[in-house]
Amino acid sequence: MSDASQVDVAIVGAGAAGLAAARELSNRGTSFVLLEASHRIGGRGYTEEILPGQPFDLGCHWMHSASLNPFVKIADEFGFTYTKGSYPKGGHWDGSWISEDDISEIDTYFEQQFNSMAKIIASGKDCSVFEASDREHKWTSLFDYIASLNSSSDVDQVSIADVLAYNDTDENWPVKQGFGELICRYGADIPVSLNSAVKSIDWSGKGVKLETAKCTIHAKHALITVSTGILAANDIRFTPELPPWKQEAISALSLGNHNRICLAFSEDAFGSDASEGFTTNAIDGEPMSFQIKPFGLNQVEAVTGGRFADWLERAGQQASIDYVEKKLQAVFGSDITKRVVARIVTAWRGDPWVKGAYSSAQPGKAHQRKELAKSIDDKLFFAGEATSSDAYATAHGAYLSGISAAQAMTQVYKEVQ
Ligand SMILES: Cc1cc2nc3c(=O)[nH]c(=O)nc-3n(C[C@H](O)[C@H](O)[C@H](O)COP(=O)(O)OP(=O)(O)OC[C@H]3O[C@@H](n4cnc5c(N)ncnc54)[C@H](O)[C@@H]3O)c2cc1C
Repeated sequence: MSDASQVDVAIVGAGAAGLAAARELSNRGTSFVLLEASHRIGGRGYTEEILPGQPFDLGCHWMHSASLNPFVKIADEFGFTYTKGSYPKGGHWDGSWISEDDISEIDTYFEQQFNSMAKIIASGKDCSVFEASDREHKWTSLFDYIASLNSSSDVDQVSIADVLAYNDTDENWPVKQGFGELICRYGADIPVSLNSAVKSIDWSGKGVKLETAKCTIHAKHALITVSTGILAANDIRFTPELPPWKQEAISALSLGNHNRICLAFSEDAFGSDASEGFTTNAIDGEPMSFQIKPFGLNQVEAVTGGRFADWLERAGQQASIDYVEKKLQAVFGSDITKRVVARIVTAWRGDPWVKGAYSSAQPGKAHQRKELAKSIDDKLFFAGEATSSDAYATAHGAYLSGISAAQAMTQVYKEVQ
């Protein structure tokens, strides 16, 4: 790429949003460069093989709200397979497996929490999930844990208006070959400049000027799809600075944390009638969910969210593995982990190109998603999961935001011709 390249649009970031925008611009005949800081495309969509032929999603895994999710069609086009269903519901709580009655009690309690949130919103107010929920119930710690997985932040940090704005059809379909792999396959033929971290964007003149270590790009517009973690850390210097209203939106939509820990076994350690998954509070009372043998693979996947995810990530990879193994041993006995042969532990807070998991709106600030999505001076455009008001924190929300931004840019571009 030569210095002073002149294109219509410079896209910053090749995750689901940036890739979708690139394809949309290309379909509309608009020229672009796609600049990606990392050595790979996909961003928070990232699949690795824990063992040959055994994919594991480090980031997105479930096609949420599947009937509204454009990735289902993309999966079909690329011949990917997925399971239609939702999360497993079992539990091992206070030392024993929970019953069907417990599961209905949990469902009722969760529903009640959503009803009380809806009542508060109907009265014109917003508050945190913590303030809106029953704090004394037997299943409160389970509720808080699940909420921390949904938002990647803890219940006291999340707006109920934001939670209720999410369009949830309760269809969460996992992709067998990996959701990250699907996103990369979708983007495989899109030209991307890898290892090209954008350091600064100068929008003081007629168009925009972007600096990377490799080159300078001149474009009419920039489309910024990086996470709010990257924007909040000022990893990209803007000249002039972003206006206060945009900075306010960025800080209102901060990233929490969510990590996934996978153990692979040399053989089936759980037996053919093992449950698909469960949540346990074994050892220390801290809930942790496990998926057992996803797609029949000899694997177990555990997940952490919120402050606990940050704490365990800081404790390190070995501490995370030890912790997960101890939980499994408490439920299945000490021999269960003897045949573990491979492990992967994610560390999204420490990922230099994301700096967390996904966005949630702080109490009173759900409206900031719309502010984050707004363009500035028809020069700086924004996309990415955090800009979606009803599908934030998802890959399809990111994808759809990329397409909308590309359409908006093409419109502006046509108007100035
Ligand atoms: C652990 C985890 C589990 C998840 N589970 C699910 C799930 O099951 N289902 C679901 O739908 N969603 C899930 N998500 C959320 C989903 O992965 C994200 O919402 C989505 O992938 C975000 O896409 P994006 O394009 O907005 O951002 P990103 O994927 O973050 O893309 C932004 C890109 O910008 C690049 N970048 C950063 N800085 C610069 C720079 N200075 N210059 C150039 N490039 C830069 C980054 O490297 C990255 O590739 C999960 C996320 C995590 C972390």
